[in-house]
Amino acid sequence: MPLRAKVATSVSKTAAALSRAAGRGDGSVIGGWIGLKIDPDLLAHLASGRAVALISGTNGKTTTTRLAAAALSHIGRVATNSFGANMPTGHTSALAKAGVTPFAVLEVDEHYLARVIDATRPRVVALLNLSRDQLDRAKEVAMMAQLWRDALAGHPEVRVVANADDPMVVWAAEGSGQQVTWFSAGQRWHDDSFVCPQSGHPIERNAGDWWCVGCPLRRPQAHWRVEDDGVVDPRGDWHLVKLQLPGQVNLGNAATALAVAAEFGVRPIEALPHLATVASVAGRYAQVDRDGRNVRLLLAKNPASWLEAFDMAEQAPTLLSVNARDPDGLDTSWLYDVNFAPLRDRPVLITGDRAYDLAVRLEVNGVPFRHVMSFDEAIQAVPPGRLEVIANYTAFQDIRAELDRVN
Ligand SMILES: [Zn+2]
Repeated sequence: MPLRAKVATSVSKTAAALSRAAGRGDGSVIGGWIGLKIDPDLLAHLASGRAVALISGTNGKTTTTRLAAAALSHIGRVATNSFGANMPTGHTSALAKAGVTPFAVLEVDEHYLARVIDATRPRVVALLNLSRDQLDRAKEVAMMAQLWRDALAGHPEVRVVANADDPMVVWAAEGSGQQVTWFSAGQRWHDDSFVCPQSGHPIERNAGDWWCVGCPLRRPQAHWRVEDDGVVDPRGDWHLVKLQLPGQVNLGNAATALAVAAEFGVRPIEALPHLATVASVAGRYAQVDRDGRNVRLLLAKNPASWLEAFDMAEQAPTLLSVNARDPDGLDTSWLYDVNFAPLRDRPVLITGDRAYDLAVRLEVNGVPFRHVMSFDEAIQAVPPGRLEVIANYTAFQDIRAELDRVN
């Protein structure tokens, strides 16, 4: 590395360590920020010499990054930001902290994909899904798809691994002209892909297939797909997938991680034991015992991920917590995009800064609930046994803090 980059790396690591020591989080944002101030090309310098995979999408990118990093650990050390920030400051910090590694798997915020592709020259880019998320400040889904399409167009050398079930992703990936490895991870949420991004015609669906009625855009044949409790690889071989992470959604994330790992020459039979070691991801899916209750934490940040959380939650008492602080987006109108009816069959408790917004939504949706003022009150309000907790971003962090920052 050039001297300037070496100095920037060293200062970046020191700043991150100081920030951690001062109790201000993991320091990855400030460390990366200072490093990039000293050397604007620091991310490129740190990435060079590593085989890099980038993982992006509205939902599932943290978990998929964690699973893909676990799979790649079969062939060497892996730098990853799966516990940290997903913008260039976070990537810079993660690579500086990891030191020399042959591989890197980086979760990338959808908006920064083009910039991070330019800087890191990845071998593989995995595109998971696109759906509405904080529309009060984020881009519309069709605009994000266009950004991705443009980001890939200039990089024919990048191998793309993309979700065949999401029309927006398929359109973004196909525009790149390179060969795409398609995986099928399912798409529970369809509300952001009823209109073809190519021609504006309606998209029709039938039993997992989809096609545009007015142009050639249609679902490609998937090379990797979920079948029963396993994954079928491109050769047609079925592999049982044993995960500690719950739900059909995570089976899809595992299929994606296997497809990414295969691009690095790691076979499913080699990757699968590593996937099975992942028990939780930065608190997500973590289970904690408290006063005889087994508390499980599920993060849900936007309408599509709430639907996925309902799928993962057992039929047990469920605490919902919603905040609307800066990282959550200040607008809670998205609550009306979510159908809460699946919760009608279980006791529901609500809490959080915006519990009353949630209360109105549940009332409209015909879901009985009880309001509690704190996490502790929720624990006392349910019988011993499982308590599912579904919370949006800062609400999740609040509850995680009460549980001593469980990982
Ligand atoms: Zn069309």
